[in-house]
Amino acid sequence: ASLRPSAPGVKAWRMIARKKRRIVLLGPPGSGKGTQAVRLAQKLGIPRLSTGDLLRDHAKKGTRLGRRAEPYMARGDLVPDEIVLAMVAQQLDEEAYRDGYLLDGFPRTLPQAEALGHMLSQRGQAIDLVVDLEVGARESLRRQLGRLVCSRCGASYHEFFQPSRELMKCDICGGGLVQREDDRPAAILERLRVHEEQSRPVLDYYAGQGKLRTVSGGGDVEGVFSKIEEVLAKEEG
Ligand code: AMP
Repeated sequence: ASLRPSAPGVKAWRMIARKKRRIVLLGPPGSGKGTQAVRLAQKLGIPRLSTGDLLRDHAKKGTRLGRRAEPYMARGDLVPDEIVLAMVAQQLDEEAYRDGYLLDGFPRTLPQAEALGHMLSQRGQAIDLVVDLEVGARESLRRQLGRLVCSRCGASYHEFFQPSRELMKCDICGGGLVQREDDRPAAILERLRVHEEQSRPVLDYYAGQGKLRTVSGGGDVEGVFSKIEEVLAKEEG
């Protein structure tokens, strides 16, 4: 960390962790959003709530909501708002999320953003900050095409940009690496198209509230994380 003078120090991080409790991380598929969200949540000491993970979990367990969500996910389409909102509301009521969280991949549509705002205001709460990771369509495509995840612990890898030490085997738990069901090219393209169409109103919504900060998602994981750190540090200044 000492090599990155612009990154906030331990004291600044404590302040950030205290103040910015409800954070949204947005970005197109393949922006590295998931990777950054895991790191950021860990650093801030708040839980990460990924609707993608939550939906996959429900689907795997075969819950009523999960079964309804599955066909949409397989196509690369957005799951209907009411399903996602029901899952999120259920989750946010849990004790673990009382003192804050990092939302990853949610809200993805304007109705979701509005419903979240409503849900929080009923509890006297609000989203503090929204960070949008920006990457171009071509880069987004390139990154998603080689994406692999561990079938056991969910850690993510990339065939070319972030390979595991052993071929198709997780560095962390030794589980087998697989391509996500919805990472087929047709689904990837569909997801990109849907994102372009749906995300703009969400960005405008938060920009209108003065909460939106944009960070370039280009470059390596470390570099992007430093930029996110800088944005959060600036909020303290
Ligand atoms: P992700 O892991 O964020 O790429 O999400 C995987 C898939 O889950 C997406 O392609 C959607 O089908 C679905 N999904 C995740 N989050 C949402 C959301 N907030 N609204 C609607 N669908 C979602």
